Amino acid sequence: MKFELTTLEHTKNPDIKWALSELEKVKAQAVVAGDEERANNCWRESEALQLTLIYIEAFHKIKRKEYREAWYDLERCEIKCQFVLRNSSEEFCLNKNIFFINHQISNLQSLYPYCVFSSAGMVVGYYSCGICDHKIRPRSRCSHAKGKIYNGKLCVHVAHDIVLKEISIVSKPVQKYSVVHNDETLDFSVLEHLMAVLEEAFEEWDVIRTTRKFPIDMFFRVGLDSDCPCKGGGKFGQCCSKKGEVEIPHLDFVFRRDIPNLPGIKFPY
Ligand SMILES: [Zn+2]
Ligand SMILES: [Zn+2]
Repeated sequence: MKFELTTLEHTKNPDIKWALSELEKVKAQAVVAGDEERANNCWRESEALQLTLIYIEAFHKIKRKEYREAWYDLERCEIKCQFVLRNSSEEFCLNKNIFFINHQISNLQSLYPYCVFSSAGMVVGYYSCGICDHKIRPRSRCSHAKGKIYNGKLCVHVAHDIVLKEISIVSKPVQKYSVVHNDETLDFSVLEHLMAVLEEAFEEWDVIRTTRKFPIDMFFRVGLDSDCPCKGGGKFGQCCSKKGEVEIPHLDFVFRRDIPNLPGIKFPY
């Protein structure tokens, strides 16, 4: 069956739910019949469909300024994307827009002001294979590879006897769910600016990162103890305050279609 799935309206089509449950049914039959290829195809179709749904929802949550909820959805998308990419042909990924979604997830994530995450340090007693339950030891592994699909099921390693050791604060987390910030205190104006232009999740756009130099006089409001506008990580007083000009990060958005003239973001310092 075919249905269109690009807008928020499309995601409410009851046929999608039906298609997902049919895919589960066909997959279960294929597993019983020993038809691994068919089972894997069902997994692929189902994951691509779910991924597209979550991506469209995340996009519209950002439009509605539900930034944190959208962030969690983007992380779910990112994880699904990695597994679909690993287990599918290039042709499949092209047809299902997986490359596009994957690219736009990281584009959108990069425009978030989040930079601090918590990360749990833990000791795992042992792992077992999610496909065959084999207890994994250094010299005893089963034939299943983590992250591959077997008979329509993704192979994960299941952790047992977990002992939590510490919580640390990191800037590049393994998983991005554990945001430490309070959204109320953050500036989402870049995303807001972008979303004022974009209407649908599958519009083509990209972001180009450069830097621009501004004369030091323009930064007279920045305190010496404040973070330096160059975003180098130091304090203004110890970083660029004595230079003639400050080079700050600059973003340009590129769109496929013509867009009406929008007011630019005003100089933030
Ligand atoms: Zn196994
Ligand atoms: Zn600086």
